[in-house]
Amino acid sequence: MRWFGKWFERISDGDQNRQSYGHLFRKFTLLTVVCSVGPLLLVGWGLNAYHTYFTKDRVMRQFQGQVENHRRFVEQFLKEQSSKLRLLTYTHSLDFLLVPGNLRVVYENMNREYQSITDLGVIDHTGRHLAYVGPYDLLDRNYAEAEWFKEVLHKGLYISDMFTGFREEPHFIIAISRSEGKGQWILRATVNTDVFRTLVENVRIGETGEVYLVNSRGIYQTSPRFSGEIMEKSPIEIEDLKETVKVGIVNGVSSKGSSSKQIIGKSWLDEPRWLLVIKQDYSEAFSEIHHSRRINLIFLYISAISILVVSLFITRYMVKIIRNRDEHAGQLNLQLLQASKLASIGELAAGVAHEINNPVAIISTERQLLVDQFKKTKVEDEIFRTQFIDSMDQIAAQTKRCKRITHNLLRFSRRTHSLVEMLDLNNFILEVVELMEREAKTSGVKFITELDALLPSIQSDISQLQQVFLNLITNAIDAHEGKSYGSIRIATKYDEGGGGVLITIADTGTGISKENMNRIFDPFFTTKAVGKGTGLGLSICFTIIQNLGGNITVRSEKGEGTEFAIFLPLISRIKVSEEGKMDNEFAKYPII
Ligand code: ADP
Repeated sequence: MRWFGKWFERISDGDQNRQSYGHLFRKFTLLTVVCSVGPLLLVGWGLNAYHTYFTKDRVMRQFQGQVENHRRFVEQFLKEQSSKLRLLTYTHSLDFLLVPGNLRVVYENMNREYQSITDLGVIDHTGRHLAYVGPYDLLDRNYAEAEWFKEVLHKGLYISDMFTGFREEPHFIIAISRSEGKGQWILRATVNTDVFRTLVENVRIGETGEVYLVNSRGIYQTSPRFSGEIMEKSPIEIEDLKETVKVGIVNGVSSKGSSSKQIIGKSWLDEPRWLLVIKQDYSEAFSEIHHSRRINLIFLYISAISILVVSLFITRYMVKIIRNRDEHAGQLNLQLLQASKLASIGELAAGVAHEINNPVAIISTERQLLVDQFKKTKVEDEIFRTQFIDSMDQIAAQTKRCKRITHNLLRFSRRTHSLVEMLDLNNFILEVVELMEREAKTSGVKFITELDALLPSIQSDISQLQQVFLNLITNAIDAHEGKSYGSIRIATKYDEGGGGVLITIADTGTGISKENMNRIFDPFFTTKAVGKGTGLGLSICFTIIQNLGGNITVRSEKGEGTEFAIFLPLISRIKVSEEGKMDNEFAKYPII
């Protein structure tokens, strides 16, 4: 979070409030994460876990169904073979089967559809092999000691486990005993091991799956695909199952020989007592779940990251707006402060101007009386005459100066005439420039104008604007004192968004120091020599522009120059009627 804040601070302009905006940014971002990304991840993970759980459960059930169906299938095959043999013992007598050739016909009939039987033999109650059809030399062999022989005599039907016997190859037999007049005899068939194995493995269990049968002692009854050989001891746990099918997940040996999690299903056959085992690597059995889970999570994380990134940008944008608003509010506050300062000083100035006006007017009238009287009087002293005329001229000049100062003071306090009319600002600026050109040239300063040809006309007070521009240009020329050359660039631009025009007056003069920057609009603040500056110019400019509904700002670099920017609305907010009222008020304080 701190890093995000830093990121914001880095992109924000360097100002002293930078840290607090960085803090705000961190707070907003944290809120967004807590309120949107957090719940999204929570819901996403929850749904994903729920989906995984149910899909796993479905896969396990499917696996269980598969094991059960397959057990039935294997059982069905063994039952079918047993039934065929039983039917033969009931439909064919011992004598018939012992007639040479008859057993072969029966054997071929049994294998008509597929080679399910390897051989077929008839054995008497002493264990002697009376007749035999098959690939081995087993005729006349005696099975009296064989396990299966004892079992079949006892049970009537017997399916053996895998054993090697006389042929010394793994096989199992199905034997049926029948009692006839002469005693018991047995029909015995050997099931084709390969056919049986193919049948057992006839189930779809992917790349890593295997199916096999083990007997109750854990001996493989078919060759498993990966884990061992037929008739070997299997590592599988032999247990009595409460349920018909048991499915579980165990740590076993994978198809590649490494240890891994496996899904395993077990089910006991009825007869013989063999356990059907189906195994598959866990990763393969659940690969689809893992895949869909991965995709879900990828989408979830992409969504979370997108929300985070978008909210970061939105937050940054919002904090920027807040910062701009704060700055604007700060500027407005400053201007308000300035305006209120000016208002009270304006009142004072108006009073002073009024008080000074009267004595100055009397001085002026008395001077005129003296001059008139002097003209009528014959004065012979030439020196006195010249001195008198000089003094009167001096008095006239100084009263004029006083008039100018009081006029400025009254204008500062807004007690002057104001008239709003349509104005072509570009032409107006060219006129002002022409007026000031001679003075500028003497100081080695030249004017550059960049006037927007599409600038619309504005409604404003021409005489007040004239004073503003004259003040600003005079200051700009003064700022080149001590320099032999320089320039004043005046530019105009239509500010469509702001609904007004923008005028900039930039000079290459001395610039304003940082300490003075906050004071230049204060009334009576001047850095000029006594008698040269009154310190009223900029405060008058400020008041006039404010009064016209615009604003004035300044940028300056010490030693580089200064730029004043003025915004004026297309229509000045001063109402003529209000100004008329002012005129009346002003009439109380006539300027001489
Ligand atoms: P005055 O011109 O009588 O001093 P102003 O109110 O017009 O009064 O200006 C106040 C002060 O602001 C000036 O004395 C000067 O220090 C500074 N100033 C104004 N304009 C400029 C400028 N263009 N370049 C440098 N300083 C300026």
